[in-house]
Amino acid sequence: MKDQFGRELTYLRISVVDRCNLRCLYCMPAHGAGFEAWEELLSYEEIARACKIFSELGIRKVRITGGEPLVRPHIAELTFRIREIPEIRELALSTNGVFLKAQARKLKAAGLDRVNISLDTLDRMKFQQIARMDKLHHVLEGIDEAIQTGLHPVKINTVLMKGINEDEILDLVRFAIEKSIEVRFIELMPTNGLVQLDSKEGFLSCEGAKEKIEEQFSLLPFDTYFSSPAQVFQIEGTAARVGFISPLSCVFCARCNRLRLKANGALKTCLHGKEDLDLKKLLRSGASTEEIKKRIEEVVYMRPEQHFLNEPQVRHNDFQMSYVGG
Ligand code: SAM
Repeated sequence: MKDQFGRELTYLRISVVDRCNLRCLYCMPAHGAGFEAWEELLSYEEIARACKIFSELGIRKVRITGGEPLVRPHIAELTFRIREIPEIRELALSTNGVFLKAQARKLKAAGLDRVNISLDTLDRMKFQQIARMDKLHHVLEGIDEAIQTGLHPVKINTVLMKGINEDEILDLVRFAIEKSIEVRFIELMPTNGLVQLDSKEGFLSCEGAKEKIEEQFSLLPFDTYFSSPAQVFQIEGTAARVGFISPLSCVFCARCNRLRLKANGALKTCLHGKEDLDLKKLLRSGASTEEIKKRIEEVVYMRPEQHFLNEPQVRHNDFQMSYVGG
């Protein structure tokens, strides 16, 4: 499956729920986040069918995300169903880690390969300030459990926020070294008006973070997938890595191989673009597999060449990361 610019689509990110047990200030409002009724979310049956269809169109990697995927009951059951699809070679999960300690083993047994865990701070008070819940110790236990269970690689995702966690960049790198894992710093992206952090004032570039890290550590370029949005470095003399994801300062659209399925069944061919197809409607209308494939191929072909986050006139009032899953 290719788009009009010749980019092959091999990676599907599925948000399985729009709810979350945290309220990170760059992602969701503290109160009044609107959620879909549960029956409006794709069922596991529907998600598994969609995955099978996508796999026949060339999808080889699936990531389960959210909202917070581990708040949806029996997520290991969905993991198992996706794992059963032979064409899907890699199955990953993005989580805030709060419920991971209890679920890591079950998920691994159900066929999950690897996990990305959000962690913006190692300070309990700051965690409460950012996530608006006192859950840091649960996340840290979840990270340890993921490592012990053999979910590999474990990657930490840290959103860079000026004046909030910029003083912890080196601590987070040391944490990654101590655990022999990868920490990836992500530039803050502008999302909708509900978010209580100004994306311009709070912005800290990956370049700035990298300079800070290089004052203390030697970073050796590390080869990643061609399509990876992260620039990854091995930290010399350690088993740890550090990655930088710069959606604003470095446009990686030219290599983008991703599709995103929202929990309500809307398919997006660009994270920052519009919803391109109501897959739920098709799945629930009795459309044949061939018809669904055709519709997917049509919208994929029309994918935009790049996002327009850097255009000053672009507003993101209709975009909330927790609905799309990052
Ligand atoms: N709950 C899961 C988690 O915490 O990873 C999955 C969903 S979360 C929306 C996916 C990723 O998006 C997280 O790493 C989160 O930090 C990131 N994210 C959310 N809002 C963001 C923003 N405005 N800018 C950059 N990253 C953001």
